[in-house]
Amino acid sequence: MNREDFPLLSELVYGKLLVYLDNAATTQKPRQMLDAMTDAYLHRNANIHRGVHHLSQVATEKHEQARQRVADFLGARSAKEIVFTKGTTDSLNMLAFSFGEAFVREGDEIIVSQSEHHSNIVPWQMLCERKNARLRVLPLDDSLRIDASQLENLFNERTRIISVAHVSNVLGCIEPVEEIIRIAHSRNIPVCIDGAQSAPHLPIDVQALDCDFYACSAHKMYGPTGLGVLYGKEQWLEQLPPAEGGGEMIEHVRFDKTTYNQLPYKFEAGTPDFIGSCAFAAALDYLDFIGRKQICEYENSLTAYLENRLAEVEGVRIYSRGTEKAGAVSFNVYHDDRLLHPFDIGTLLDRQGIAVRTGHHCAEPLMDYLGIPGTVRASLALYNDRQDVDALIKALRIAAEMLR
Ligand code: PLP
Repeated sequence: MNREDFPLLSELVYGKLLVYLDNAATTQKPRQMLDAMTDAYLHRNANIHRGVHHLSQVATEKHEQARQRVADFLGARSAKEIVFTKGTTDSLNMLAFSFGEAFVREGDEIIVSQSEHHSNIVPWQMLCERKNARLRVLPLDDSLRIDASQLENLFNERTRIISVAHVSNVLGCIEPVEEIIRIAHSRNIPVCIDGAQSAPHLPIDVQALDCDFYACSAHKMYGPTGLGVLYGKEQWLEQLPPAEGGGEMIEHVRFDKTTYNQLPYKFEAGTPDFIGSCAFAAALDYLDFIGRKQICEYENSLTAYLENRLAEVEGVRIYSRGTEKAGAVSFNVYHDDRLLHPFDIGTLLDRQGIAVRTGHHCAEPLMDYLGIPGTVRASLALYNDRQDVDALIKALRIAAEMLR
């Protein structure tokens, strides 16, 4: 799908045309987004929000239009609910700090799941250490999806927030977030969704989902690196204190008392990425131009093809096989009962021009649960096709044969 829009996909690796299957880590960039970034630097490079001069005003207007674009893309009620951050990790850290300051006391509890990315564990763990609170872990079911039915067992009057991924970055499975949100809300507990792996693949509507917070990264959505989003319902964001101090986030500064800016600026200390935001808006335009439903359907069928083709390879074990997935498939190759180390597989695939990711994928608690050091993860994007999958399978057979 639209491969020609992505200049990097014409690169050669070891003399072979690159087969890029590491999209869960970051996506390649369409020319439209690269052009938007160049255009912003060429024509609107002025610091925003505080300049009276023309360039600054144009840059401000474009930045705020980009915020509105993100709000529309995610289905937010208002652009006030869109906080620009550096990425999902930054969004989750900001939320954990800020929410923790406002609502978490000694003995309180926070729930995450067994399969979270470290970015959705460590900020909450740090908060728990700061506040002497307790991190509780929602288990997985037999198919390795989060087991929402276990939520009732974890809740008590000290539960303050639940934070779970929408799509597992390791397994690719779509988590039962609707159910988690429904159960949590029946107890008035807010839910944060780590959308790093869902925003690039699934049509997202935060109002329909009814999540209280949603975090995502532009670079995983064909946008620029170093930019992300924290969506929060206005009534929640209003109650949270800023996580960082500096310019932009203030209303007035006096040595005896500083008052804070209105939403969303009170969470955006310092010069924002007003170039990246314009490029991000162009990436979102690109996704909507192709059609998010079409992308989702295309990727679904390619993921099923990938799983089926992988299953043909001798000794392959696919994790969470058969669950509804969005983009990523994790597997290992065994010879008899011996694990062929994923790092070795990844290296041998690389030599054949195939880029996959290997290791724990920033989800060590999940690896411990599975009792493995890591997996090989092939993750898809809209520009991948069956030829890419076939190339992976061919190279995988060669790699496995060499290691047996
Ligand atoms: N959460 C999930 C599920 C992820 O897959 C990732 C990155 O892979 C992150 C959080 C962190 O994203 P970033 O590194 O863009 O902050």
